Amino acid sequence: MIEFLQKLIQIQSISPKDEGCFDLIEERLNKLNFKCERINYLNVENLYATYGDKGKIFCFLGHTDVVPTGPEDHWTHPPFSGHIEGDVMYGRGTADMKASIAAFIESLEEFMDSKPDLNYRIAVLLTSNEEGDAADGFIDKIVDDMIEKDEKIDLCLVGEPTSYKKIGDSIRIGRRGSLGGSLKIIGKQGHIAYPENVVNPIFSASDVIVKLKNTVWDNGNAIFQPTSFQISNIHSGTGAKNIVPGELDMFFNFRYSTESTHEKLMSEFESILKELNVEYEIDWKLSGLPYLTKEDNLKDVVVESILNITGYSPDLNAKGGTSDGRFIAKMGTEIVELGPLNETIHQIDEHVKISEIELLQKIYTNILNNLNQKLA
Ligand SMILES: [Zn+2]
Repeated sequence: MIEFLQKLIQIQSISPKDEGCFDLIEERLNKLNFKCERINYLNVENLYATYGDKGKIFCFLGHTDVVPTGPEDHWTHPPFSGHIEGDVMYGRGTADMKASIAAFIESLEEFMDSKPDLNYRIAVLLTSNEEGDAADGFIDKIVDDMIEKDEKIDLCLVGEPTSYKKIGDSIRIGRRGSLGGSLKIIGKQGHIAYPENVVNPIFSASDVIVKLKNTVWDNGNAIFQPTSFQISNIHSGTGAKNIVPGELDMFFNFRYSTESTHEKLMSEFESILKELNVEYEIDWKLSGLPYLTKEDNLKDVVVESILNITGYSPDLNAKGGTSDGRFIAKMGTEIVELGPLNETIHQIDEHVKISEIELLQKIYTNILNNLNQKLA
């Protein structure tokens, strides 16, 4: 497993390129008699492998692409070396998320080796465009195709790095939604010495921002933090010091809980602008719906397996950014995310501990076994 992980790390699969990771993975899945399919959209590769012909579909979801390394000379070891020092393997994509792929493949082999009387179908769905622009939504397209063909993933385990201090101390059973927008506030340009002839969009924006900052969009719930509103960019001005500009542009984003909907947030946002009599143009971009797994089948199995292997129970939460789980959720799938520690993801010197990946692999095997009993 560790050698295999090292090989995956040595492939420079910077998003949205797979660069051959799927070839290595497919080779092992073929040996287990999985039916492997490559689904390509707009030159982005996706691998969908399935096994079995009866029962619910349990799918492992992951991605082989990684984020760029940043300055390579800042790394202690070259980012695509997979260098091992003691218990630690360094490399871009170790934690996010090639280690969980290597661990899951290993678990599949172990599980199939025991020749189980299989009570469910197993699928592995991997994309090479998770870290890139979500607008391309490749998993989204695959899901739409499945819905059209009346197929459904019933249970989905996502290998994203959800752990904090110890493997399995935290699992995600939901994710917040992401709603972005670009707002143009329109004023009236003119000479700075003639205030009666101008409408300053910077002043209008300041009223708007105060109101937005002080709005409580919702209070969250047991699983979700309250919805948060942030501004990432603001720009105005003509370049001249004696001109009041005619426009102001602002980018903003909501990370929202299941207590809000994107429709509600959009209408509340725009009603603030209307209330303040601001002239504006707005472009909304919904990049992820929130999801929350309510059913207990997979959730119970994962919690039990973590307890079996580690002796402790995980925290169930909906923290972190969005994940491809949001696309799968459209099918009404039970989704649980469990993977390595997220402490170093996207950072210089990203790494995993080998002992932790071995532990994760034991948990994955336990999940495959427990699921077989649960779904019998
Ligand atoms: Zn990831």
